[in-house]
Amino acid sequence: MTSKPSSDFVIIGAGIIGLAIAHELISRNPSLSIVVLDKESDAGTHASGRNSGILHAGFYYSPESLKARLTREGNKLLRDFLDQHKVPVISTGKVVVVSHDSQIETLHLLASRAQANGVDVSLISQGELSQLEPRARTCELALWSPTTSVADPRNVIDTMAAAVKSAGVAIHFGQEVMQVTHNEVHTKSDTFVTGHVINAAGLYADKIAQQCNFGHEYVMLPFKGLYWYADVPQGFMTRQVYPVPDVRNPFLGVHVTLTAKGKVKIGPTAIPGFWRENYTGLSNFSGREFAETLTAYPRFLTSKHHNAWDLVKQEFPKYLRHVMISQAQELVPSLPSSAFKTRGQVGIRAQLFNVRKKRLEMDFIIEGDKYSTHMLNSVSPAWTSSMAVAKYVVTDLEQRQVL
Ligand SMILES: Cc1cc2nc3c(=O)[nH]c(=O)nc-3n(C[C@H](O)[C@H](O)[C@H](O)COP(=O)(O)OP(=O)(O)OC[C@H]3O[C@@H](n4cnc5c(N)ncnc54)[C@H](O)[C@@H]3O)c2cc1C
Repeated sequence: MTSKPSSDFVIIGAGIIGLAIAHELISRNPSLSIVVLDKESDAGTHASGRNSGILHAGFYYSPESLKARLTREGNKLLRDFLDQHKVPVISTGKVVVVSHDSQIETLHLLASRAQANGVDVSLISQGELSQLEPRARTCELALWSPTTSVADPRNVIDTMAAAVKSAGVAIHFGQEVMQVTHNEVHTKSDTFVTGHVINAAGLYADKIAQQCNFGHEYVMLPFKGLYWYADVPQGFMTRQVYPVPDVRNPFLGVHVTLTAKGKVKIGPTAIPGFWRENYTGLSNFSGREFAETLTAYPRFLTSKHHNAWDLVKQEFPKYLRHVMISQAQELVPSLPSSAFKTRGQVGIRAQLFNVRKKRLEMDFIIEGDKYSTHMLNSVSPAWTSSMAVAKYVVTDLEQRQVL
């Protein structure tokens, strides 16, 4: 065990949140010494490199939430950063469509949330929808979001990692954090002494927070996102097409997305996972995590805040490709069933369940004291919001005179 030289900040996690915070800290004060630790051999190995790559506009979230405050701003900040670093961002816009007139009420709710959140959207007729995206189908009305766009998540994380490294941040890979005490971060091989710890460990953020006496009311419920690519000609469609979500749950439903390279992709599912990095088969199996999730799921299933049984009943069948395809065809009927031969990379959401309130947490949660700050429940759209989240956190550190 070696002891490393002391730093101002140790950030745990080289996902988009950890790197965006490093970027904000070093931009405000270039003389800070900042160390980022990640257990993997590269940045963005988990959610930040495995998502849909959509820069959300910010209209889904209830106006009092942090998500509402930070997504519209995050969309702009990330876009500006990517433009500056010449990373392509494709301005596809997005349409949200309904498959039954009972869902129109939710479209109106989303439009009123957009207005409250200062996000530009409009309700459009079937005729206007066919002009914007002729392949999408709706029932009477749809919602049009012009500021939704898409970028390649791998390209984004690599660019962010390179930017922070060139500004003087040290990123150490293969450093799994085992224990955090006030001013010390212990990995398997080293001890890092620091002024302040920032925990941006994604699927393990709750575990690290609990070592610092935060987040004891949460348990991680991993939800798996599967994708399929459609082998259709370039230009097959030009917009992102989403269904109306069930606003009682934090998931958006299987959508038809266009990647930054113009490929058509369907997904992601929100299938309950049984351990945190349960990507495929028995990969990364952990008996302890399996036992934890088996204890937590019954509490979720009996929660009065979500229609959890319906969610579970709808999600598990999506392991079958034809079920996912037929859901996507409700949004875009001309998607050929035979076109889906290639799976996308599986992503897993770091979704927290509050055991005291018996509900899934819907918002970002940030807790901390003078020794540490914990980024909990960094679920979608935290990728979009990352740079605004970072500004918010660093301003708070300044106000608390940690910085
Ligand atoms: C399927 C899916 C689709 C999504 N689509 C979108 C989208 O289109 N738009 C959007 O805005 N958001 C989307 N999201 C959400 C977005 O991807 C996440 O909110 C965001 O990537 C979270 O970033 P993070 O840095 O908190 O977590 P992560 O990217 O998971 O990073 C955490 C890092 O911590 C490291 N780590 C964990 N434990 C330790 C430890 N003990 N020691 C050292 N390192 C550790 C991990 O290796 C990892 O690199 C999606 C998420 C999923 C799963």
